[in-house]
Amino acid sequence: EPEREVLTWATFGDASRDLTKKIVDDGFVPDIVIAIARGGLIPAGAIAYAIGVKAAGTLNVEFYSDIEETLPDPVVLEPLLDTDSIVGKKLLVVDDVADSGRTLALVIDLLKAHTPDVRSAVIYTKPRTIVRPDYSWRETDKWINFPWSTLPVIT
Ligand code: 5GP
Repeated sequence: EPEREVLTWATFGDASRDLTKKIVDDGFVPDIVIAIARGGLIPAGAIAYAIGVKAAGTLNVEFYSDIEETLPDPVVLEPLLDTDSIVGKKLLVVDDVADSGRTLALVIDLLKAHTPDVRSAVIYTKPRTIVRPDYSWRETDKWINFPWSTLPVIT
């Protein structure tokens, strides 16, 4: 069994506050926080509250089918973001982790076609990422267990 980076709910609470502090200290005030669903939903919600931004949106992207098992390419799934509503807005895109960085790269490209100031925040960055997130809490090369996706689905 390879070693894992385990993020608990309690540590996630501190991480999202620390990450938000980095964004605020940098002087960035987004108009809209965009979550990359599903992994970025909970981090984006925590950051939106901590930063005091009420406008939130989601972009649904699928890439990993299982642990360390990816689809050929990340794909945007429905429901789609209403891109008319983001024109000229400062966006903060939030995901759980930039691993290969391909999900973040896809989303940033897509959003930058509609508005110029698009920045990204993630809890974790892996060294191999093809895009450096603007804001990141920690770096690791391990597989991360997030508190929201570790327990089995309730049936
Ligand atoms: P990327 O496109 O940067 O390779 O990763 C896209 C998505 O895959 C992440 O947003 C996350 O949902 C999932 N993923 C990548 N690496 C990990 C990991 O170490 N642990 C977990 N739980 N999910 C990961």
